[in-house]
Amino acid sequence: MSKRPFVTKEQIEKIVKEYPTPFHIYDEKGIRENAEKLRQAFAWNKGFREYFAVKATPNPFLIDILREYGCGCDCSSQTELMLADALNMKGEDIMFSSNDTPREEYAYAAKLGAIINLDDITHIDYLEKIVGKLPETMSCRYNPGGVFQISNSIMDNPGESKYGFTTQQMFEGFRILRKKGVKYFGIHAFLASNTVTNEYYPLLARELFELAVRLHKETGATIRFINLSGGVGIPYRPEEEGNDILAIGEGVRRVYEEILVPAGMGDVAIYTELGRFMLAPYGHLITRVIHEKHTHKEYLGCDACAVNLMRPAMYGAYHHITVLGKEDAPCDHLYDVTGSLCENNDKFAIDRMLPAVEIGDYLAIHDTGAHGFSMGYNYNGKLRSAELLLKEDGSMRLIRRAETPADYFATFDCFDIHSRLV
Ligand SMILES: *Cc1c(COP(=O)(O)O)cnc(C)c1O
Repeated sequence: MSKRPFVTKEQIEKIVKEYPTPFHIYDEKGIRENAEKLRQAFAWNKGFREYFAVKATPNPFLIDILREYGCGCDCSSQTELMLADALNMKGEDIMFSSNDTPREEYAYAAKLGAIINLDDITHIDYLEKIVGKLPETMSCRYNPGGVFQISNSIMDNPGESKYGFTTQQMFEGFRILRKKGVKYFGIHAFLASNTVTNEYYPLLARELFELAVRLHKETGATIRFINLSGGVGIPYRPEEEGNDILAIGEGVRRVYEEILVPAGMGDVAIYTELGRFMLAPYGHLITRVIHEKHTHKEYLGCDACAVNLMRPAMYGAYHHITVLGKEDAPCDHLYDVTGSLCENNDKFAIDRMLPAVEIGDYLAIHDTGAHGFSMGYNYNGKLRSAELLLKEDGSMRLIRRAETPADYFATFDCFDIHSRLV
């Protein structure tokens, strides 16, 4: 499959007159179509709800679009809760799936009436001391340990992951919570990340549904929802085939009919906390080539760097790159595509075949709509970029301005940089 950007060179040339590169741009049309598909995929489940993982793209304008499709917010920190609160998300519109949680964050989540998803059995007492009486509904995060396998391939390694309760702790935790007056229960697990297979959710669902039936039978707990969390991935590489969310929803439905319905648990709601799947394909990082360097390798120097998109530097992640205006030109030149950080891992691509690039060309770095801007940082004094929304009618809206030096220096209390500058 070829990967085509959702913007053209002509559109970008117009935009840069007002908003210089680099910036992240999001595609409203794509976001809406995908959110609608997810809703359809799980329409068979009466209580279904997607809680968008705010950490993936914490932008209120984008979250507001998702909200039109019924999405709530999955938060994991104080500021993410604040964002949900400011968007007027109420009570069970918010899932609080945190770990190593500070006291004040639990207090805030409880005040908002968010569903609290505990990461550890010791947090039962910790939370109780903060809130006094535990909420009626509580969720626990499950980690079965071992490796998570599909057929013969290992998808991820829960045994090495810091999250969740062990199996035994789930039973013990549910019993303790029931004694403390909790009435309704949720089960949550996130066992593999960026899965590009329609099998992940159905397999995870089977494991969680079986656990739910046992927990219900052995502890008497009323299970209200099962949260399949995030982990449904996207095809970052052009040769990968993307997930079919309708097939995934259908796969989960079959397991639901097989396990939960016969156990008299046909009223359990399915929740998801997708981040990447909701937005990643609908964002590009647009950057301009400002230098070419010919040394031991051929380098393209961009005006964006790893602070705008950390995944390649951090995980060696592949992000497809299109040279705008050269979409159909042959990829017959080999480049390393770099940013300007004083770090040699600041490369968006290593040994990438692209069409012949000239200084001034615009690159669209694909799939930056989730875990892109949000992982940004300020190393080397680099500033965060703007975020723009390409609306369905083709118009453009600034949804976050670029940082300025004043933002960067704003946290010095006793050092007024401006009065010192000549
Ligand atoms: C990161 C995260 C998600 C979203 O993960 P994606 O890979 O973006 O789908 C959901 N839930 C929790 C608790 C997370 O930490």
